[in-house]
Amino acid sequence: MITDDARELLSTGSICDSCLGRPFADRSFGLTNAERGRALRTTVALADDEDFEPTEPADCWVCDGYCGTFDAIAETIVDALEGVDFATYQVGTRVPPLVEENERLLREDAGLEPDVGESMKREMNREVGRRVGAMTETDVDFDRPDVLAVVDLEGFDPLEALESDTVTSHAVDVQINPAFVYGRYRKLERDIPQTEWPCRECGGSGVQLGDDGEEPCDYCGGSGYMYDTSVEQVVRPHVVAAMDGDEGTFHGAGREDVDARMLEDGRPFVLEVKRPRVRDPDVEALEREINDAAEGAVEVEGLRLATYEMVERVKEHDASKHYRADVAFEEPIEEAAFDAALAELEGTTVDQYTPERVDHRRAGLTRQRTVYEIDGDLHEPTEAEVRLHGEGGLYVKELISSDNGRTEPSLAGLLETDAEVTALDVTGVEGEDEPFELEEYFRDEPRAASDDELAETAD
Ligand SMILES: [Zn+2]
Ligand SMILES: [Zn+2]
Repeated sequence: MITDDARELLSTGSICDSCLGRPFADRSFGLTNAERGRALRTTVALADDEDFEPTEPADCWVCDGYCGTFDAIAETIVDALEGVDFATYQVGTRVPPLVEENERLLREDAGLEPDVGESMKREMNREVGRRVGAMTETDVDFDRPDVLAVVDLEGFDPLEALESDTVTSHAVDVQINPAFVYGRYRKLERDIPQTEWPCRECGGSGVQLGDDGEEPCDYCGGSGYMYDTSVEQVVRPHVVAAMDGDEGTFHGAGREDVDARMLEDGRPFVLEVKRPRVRDPDVEALEREINDAAEGAVEVEGLRLATYEMVERVKEHDASKHYRADVAFEEPIEEAAFDAALAELEGTTVDQYTPERVDHRRAGLTRQRTVYEIDGDLHEPTEAEVRLHGEGGLYVKELISSDNGRTEPSLAGLLETDAEVTALDVTGVEGEDEPFELEEYFRDEPRAASDDELAETAD
């Protein structure tokens, strides 16, 4: 009988309503544990015709008073989140080992299973969380909340908290999870790396040791970087500032060579902002700001607020690439031979042994990649433009040059003369099976076409 169990629990000493109700937490959905405890205390008093004696949490031997501090903890959390944008939260609690031991002893003394019902940790997370949600009009999210508040119950004295109705902010640690902005970038000039590239001589410090002590690094001119700028350095500061975050990380959907341009619709990327105080910046204004500051070297478009899954999406989603290459031949080529070689390559699966120029620490292996489409124009007997659409991971420079026979077949091999890419542009990056931009990866509404785009459509 539940009344008998309750009577046994009450006989262990003074216990508060929450601690009395918690062993029965799996009964009667819709009640709080305090309501369950109060009802059982009333029932036992009536059944035994004893005087009704409520017990305040401050006098409870099990929780030491913590069950009366839900409101005070919730208010401290809300104060700590002042000025932080969030739509979802989660509360976690560290319960003192002594209290966990009391919970076990309570049940054992009453002849119950040691873990029957609910733990105080779970009740604390739910009761405090509910109050935080109500005060801030936000929702709990157990999977990926915008903010996480971890409460260390040992960080405050529960009796003092009951007295003053407040909890020291030291007992609450608020974590703000990263926020993500998706977009595509174009690189309109060559010799711009995608991500910042520290100087290989000075390791990014910008200084070297001279006869008279430290002096600017000869190799990088003191900048600390191999190149003056990067796509990351153009994009990151504006996004981090717009979201009032601490720092940012650039994630690209693959990368083109430093000397290749990225044209047309650009390449997908995600900028991850750590500890953002703002989660819904005006992405159109942000886009204009980045493009104005970049002065034509780099452009971004289609910025949208993304979910954290978008990071893995841009990194892992299989994408095919479109290229345009200027090619120089050592020997003059006949138009017919050129066309025949391209026809031979179209639709072909190419064997490529890891190119010489690729990081020599990477283990060499032969991989197969397909050339979906290829065509071109022979402008001069020794100069051509080649356009192609290939499977992700195809080494284009090597498809043209043969890389000393490491790529087979190749344009140079088929034409039996040396061939070299003198300029390369990536003209498209698109998902193999489906686009990168599925709505489930976005947190905002699709953007309306801009005035420029509408004007283009009208033409
Ligand atoms: Zn209690
Ligand atoms: Zn340097």
